[in-house]
Amino acid sequence: MSLPACPACQENHTYSDGHLYVCPMCFHEWTDESQRLAEEALIIRDANGNALNTGDDVTVIRDLKLGKDVIRQGTRVKNIRLLEHLVDGHDIEAKVDGFGSLYLKSSVVKK
Ligand SMILES: [Zn+2]
Repeated sequence: MSLPACPACQENHTYSDGHLYVCPMCFHEWTDESQRLAEEALIIRDANGNALNTGDDVTVIRDLKLGKDVIRQGTRVKNIRLLEHLVDGHDIEAKVDGFGSLYLKSSVVKK
């Protein structure tokens, strides 16, 4: 059985100690469950369920009201930045032509 690489230092010298995985390189200890949860929490998905990354270009999938302006469906948004912590329910920050820097929701964009 092959053991997962260390999530802390990426070295491949993991051994298992009961229900724990242990990395002898940096002494990080973790479990399958904690690793899975950590990875799940970090993944931000677009409207189609594709994982998004900082630096991606996305397209807005529906009109978004912004005060009296509207960001039109189909607007291309380049070089998004994923937020580590939600801001008002928004998980993406990006510059949109004509609007400047905005917060967006991953549920209204697609890659
Ligand atoms: Zn390690």
